[in-house]
Amino acid sequence: MFISIRNACFGFLFIVGFYSGFAQIKKQTSTHVKQNNQRVNNPTSIKQAGSTAPLKCLNKKLSLAIHIVTDSLHHPNVTQAQINAALAVLNTDFSPICLSFFICKQDTIYNYQYYKFKNPQHIAPANQTYAVANMINVYVVGSIIPPIEAGFAGKAGDFMVLSHGCLSDPKCWSHEMGHFFSLAHTFDTSTGAEFVDESNCIAAGDSICDTPADINPIPLTPSPITPGCQWVGTNTDAHGQYYTPIIGNIMSYHPSACKTPFTIGQLNKMLNWYLIYRNYLY
Ligand SMILES: [Zn+2]
Repeated sequence: MFISIRNACFGFLFIVGFYSGFAQIKKQTSTHVKQNNQRVNNPTSIKQAGSTAPLKCLNKKLSLAIHIVTDSLHHPNVTQAQINAALAVLNTDFSPICLSFFICKQDTIYNYQYYKFKNPQHIAPANQTYAVANMINVYVVGSIIPPIEAGFAGKAGDFMVLSHGCLSDPKCWSHEMGHFFSLAHTFDTSTGAEFVDESNCIAAGDSICDTPADINPIPLTPSPITPGCQWVGTNTDAHGQYYTPIIGNIMSYHPSACKTPFTIGQLNKMLNWYLIYRNYLY
């Protein structure tokens, strides 16, 4: 029932003589491997790394292990062209810090139970069976339940799960990769609601000061964003000031049709998270 076809970049290391022209071979260096307990901390230095300082260029190309889950008829219902097109958008969004991603491995998981991927129940068994160490494992599934979501990823664990709907959404893969590199939603309130005046921007909201305070527009009626991507909301923060967010930021829940790039602060935070906690990836 479980069949995995693994065409690993690892494998090419052993038969490199036959594939000398394969340019994407990457060497494994154990010195770059960090322990799990080092990956989940979130020190103040990282929070403050979301600054508007000039961007560095990482010049890194990270390996993806794509795992395509089929339905009960063994149909993937997603094409390579769709995956490649979504990957091109992802790479464009991360290009300001010279971080890119390529498909190092791709396999097919003929286990329809994962086609409607349960978060979090399916995460551990899927990773135990299919995850490739030191790569970003991307599970491509029909849908994610419950709750219904297009994709998910976290700042710990070398995986993300993307639905077919996510792959056809111009913001979704970059949004999940943003979470993978520690970014919160622009409207996050887990450490307190960010004020419009930005007086608490380091500690509250998404802990990034060049993303203005934002709110989640999805539950709001009427929507604070017009189809033409104008902010017409009259919502105010705890100080009574009107929200004026960046419309369409990748880490917002604004419509994808209103997409705007990562800010410099977001890019810097991801860059520093990579350097400190994710540099074992290759
Ligand atoms: Zn999200």
